[in-house]
Amino acid sequence: MRGLTAYATGWRQALRRRTPFPAPARRSFSSKKLWPSELKKQVDFTALDAKWQERWRARLYPPVRPRSLVFEKGKAYILPMFPYPSGELHLGHLRVYTISDVLARYNQMQGHAVLHPIGWDAFGLPAENAAIERGIHPEKWTLQNIETMKSQMIMMGGRWDWDRHIFLMLHERGLAYQAESLVNYDPVDKTVLANEQVDANGCSWRSGAKVEKQMLKQWFLKIKQFQEPLLKDLDLLAENGNWPERVLAMQRNWLGRSEGMKIWFDVNATGHNCQIDVFTTRPDTLFGVQYLALSINHPIVQDMASVDDSLRAFLSRAQALPPDSKEGYLLSGIEAVNPLSQFSPAAEASIPVYVAPYVLDDYGSGAVMGVPGHDARDHAFWRANAGDRPVMQVIATESGVTPEPLVAGSELDKPMLFKGFIASNISSCGGLSSDEAVNEIGKLLEASSTPFEKTENWRLRDWLISRQRYWGTPIPIIHCASCGPVPVPVKDLPVVLPTLPNEFFQGMTGNPLAKDDEWKKTTCPKCGSVANRETDTMDTFMDSSWYFFRFLSPRRSEGPVKPETANIEMPVDVYVGGVEHAILHLLYARFISKFLATTPLWPDGEAVHGEPFKRLITQGMVHGKTYSEPSTGRFLRPEEVDLTNPSTPIIKATGATPVTSFEKMSKSKYNGVSPTTTIAKYGADVTRAHMLFQAPISDVLEWDEDSITGVQRWLTRVWRLSSTVNFIPPDILKTFRPPKNIDAPLVDVLIELRNRGILKPAKLPRHMPNPLMTDEEELLAALGVPEQLLWSKVQETIVSVTKSYASTYALNTIISDLMTLTNTIWDAAHTSQTMSYLRFLGMVHLLRMVAPVAPAVAEECWESLHTKTCRIIENDPYHPLKLASKSSIFSFRFPEPDTQVIPKLNPEITTVFMLDGKKKFEVKIRKPPELVQGPLELARWLGSRLLESEVGKEWLEKGRGRVWRRMQDVEADPQFTWLPKEWTAVIVGRGKLVNVVRPKTKGKKGGKEGNEGMQIQKDVGVHREGEETKQQEAQPEPGRARLLQESKGGAEKTARRERGKR
Ligand SMILES: [Zn+2]
Repeated sequence: MRGLTAYATGWRQALRRRTPFPAPARRSFSSKKLWPSELKKQVDFTALDAKWQERWRARLYPPVRPRSLVFEKGKAYILPMFPYPSGELHLGHLRVYTISDVLARYNQMQGHAVLHPIGWDAFGLPAENAAIERGIHPEKWTLQNIETMKSQMIMMGGRWDWDRHIFLMLHERGLAYQAESLVNYDPVDKTVLANEQVDANGCSWRSGAKVEKQMLKQWFLKIKQFQEPLLKDLDLLAENGNWPERVLAMQRNWLGRSEGMKIWFDVNATGHNCQIDVFTTRPDTLFGVQYLALSINHPIVQDMASVDDSLRAFLSRAQALPPDSKEGYLLSGIEAVNPLSQFSPAAEASIPVYVAPYVLDDYGSGAVMGVPGHDARDHAFWRANAGDRPVMQVIATESGVTPEPLVAGSELDKPMLFKGFIASNISSCGGLSSDEAVNEIGKLLEASSTPFEKTENWRLRDWLISRQRYWGTPIPIIHCASCGPVPVPVKDLPVVLPTLPNEFFQGMTGNPLAKDDEWKKTTCPKCGSVANRETDTMDTFMDSSWYFFRFLSPRRSEGPVKPETANIEMPVDVYVGGVEHAILHLLYARFISKFLATTPLWPDGEAVHGEPFKRLITQGMVHGKTYSEPSTGRFLRPEEVDLTNPSTPIIKATGATPVTSFEKMSKSKYNGVSPTTTIAKYGADVTRAHMLFQAPISDVLEWDEDSITGVQRWLTRVWRLSSTVNFIPPDILKTFRPPKNIDAPLVDVLIELRNRGILKPAKLPRHMPNPLMTDEEELLAALGVPEQLLWSKVQETIVSVTKSYASTYALNTIISDLMTLTNTIWDAAHTSQTMSYLRFLGMVHLLRMVAPVAPAVAEECWESLHTKTCRIIENDPYHPLKLASKSSIFSFRFPEPDTQVIPKLNPEITTVFMLDGKKKFEVKIRKPPELVQGPLELARWLGSRLLESEVGKEWLEKGRGRVWRRMQDVEADPQFTWLPKEWTAVIVGRGKLVNVVRPKTKGKKGGKEGNEGMQIQKDVGVHREGEETKQQEAQPEPGRARLLQESKGGAEKTARRERGKR
């Protein structure tokens, strides 16, 4: 235990984490070797990793963030879910840490005060079990794993001594309590098991013993007290898609709020009469009740078991039945009365009562009504227990109908599950809709003096935190015979686990704490008499439900977190982790945070409703390439497959082609991939970029190294471009003097170039001299089309990449955008001296955008561009880039788009204009700038550009153009003057194709639709425009057809909505 605290030191360094990947074996690194001037040299990515990881270690990052930064630019708390030290790092880890690391680096370059910590989820059952198997202490086992994984990840760890403190705070507020609970108990190992540790036959996964259900006194946390806000605040998290809809739905379902009615049924039993209250979400089906079902622990059942041997036998068998079992036990000598039977003869007056294992003790009061005609489970239970007896149907699909009873064995023997209308044969309610009937039924119940109440039921249960285990946080309670459970006084905290020898764990069963009398015996803090310590430890989910607070004050000894710091840093801005934690961890974390927001530990928490995670990213799983034998489906070991040619694998033994698939990585499928080997082979940056490029972050990632060469080629090209000799001709390089302000707007750069005689004045065509041209217009006119194209690509990439990093987290499109920009810079022809400067500045921007993804490559290229290959900077000790290059690229800001200049640059596209799907003309127009977003704006913008051309005027000019022929009396669309009212425009590929469609039959549409004016169809929704355009460029024909088909609904809707706003 003591050893672990050492890992809490060095926290601050961890806050600014460096690259999370293992340092590969050191190689000799020679800068001379790396800098040949020809283009063919290859880059050694693993050597770059080694070089820069070494420098990052040596270089002094500010260990503590300046507080001023927190207030000036805002904080960014980026957090990956902390790992469980299982002993090996897998690709799933790599994916989550790559994502969070990229976002942390980006935010840092945006000037935010970034907090990006990592620690270890040290306690837990798997560690204890592994330790028992190996006969070593779980601490030793955990430390070993942390050591291994740390060397892989270069990270720090921490530990959570403060669980106890939070537990006592909960205890003080009455939110931690002890109660009897039915648990899985392994009589051989003498321990409580989690549900997951009981196999399908009801046996312990370890001892193989039949698991018993036992009532044991357990510790619970009252999470139910927070159920309302836990549910309601899911709506806050849903705003702007901040949390994935899937996770929200899972939490909603887990909380499981349902509205319904509690109804007390009279019961006639031999000996005594009583009432049973049942909860139902469908009181409208009350006329159709055919039986009541009680849980196996219902008081009436327990009562009757004392005199009924066969019931006792059933109950003991029922313990082991699966929760969805259809078995039941008919209680004899007892009948319930349907309170509505006096109002309608259609309802059965007296109904049987069963014991059914499917009824949960704590759903309502452990009793439900059975309506086989309108509930699938009730129907199955009825058929299994009541045989062929007919099933009543009291709800019909339409009003005024009486459905036939369901006959066993008939094809129609299926319950009607939906709301509808009360069957017409039912007096007083017949014909009413299900919802109307509920009120009427309430009145009938009142009239019959049957107690009932409208109520709600929750699926959520209080959180059972007791574990009869050693490797966890002890529950700080002392049991005294006279005082009861007494909290351990604060001065005696923490309660430390006893140190046990390795041998102790050899084949250990049960909880060693309960057997350690020396540790257990203590004195009561209240009365001083002899007392026992609580020997249960806490569920490991307790640690993970608040660790993100502890990360803020890792070494604080006065409490779990410093309130001022919690106020500043919380909530976490971006939380990254697996979707498998959607319920337990994320719900518990929300609960504990909401609780802390009501305590002095997080005073400002209430302002954010105690919600700990503003934005949640759930990354998809990583699947591995799997080979199996086609005939048997047997998974093949790597050595059984000949991969000489990776695209045509061959089974060595048979010469046959194996089946290739992608599946969850597992030992039995031989498809695991070690991140360590991958990184050692390709380098950390290539691995990271490949991982991000392969799939959107929330999708499953099919790990396929065959395609990694694409990313390798890209980063190699970036690296080659960082050598100025590769893109600036020697004679220009001699006098090349890069601008001192790399972030200056283009116009300022051009002024400098003009003053230095590098940018020649524009040669304007004779027919368009314009004495009124502004200085800016003259400067931009002096740029050639290739220069304009290059610069608008640079700027548009900044816009789209920034959006992906900051809000959509489309990290895969970042890679494709950066690849495109790299190629644009690479391919730009040397058309002018100015071009050399723009390519140089393009590289300055590109490298800063690459840096979060490929930090070592970016650092290397940055250094090379500025000091190794740009001689002016090299020889000028005062050049800002010379000074700057001494520090990291990460000390530079992320580039900001020059939004002023983007619309003024003049790249062109060819637009094909169609009328009713027939091509009429094509014309070159200005490419729509990235800033023109939304279908409506795009349509307007394109209309004006088309009207600037002669041929466009010929077709579109109001009143005179060809589309206006015979439409002189028709008004122009109110939004667009270039089309008659009611015409439609279909725009594809951001203006590469404009198809205008005239209304099909004049006057037919009329009404609302017709008056709405022009409809716009655009390739895809607003925010993915750029991406789609690219796809279309890559594969014009199929892409276009698909886009047209896909586009309909969404784009139209968007257009209408926008119109509505105007
Ligand atoms: Zn006492």
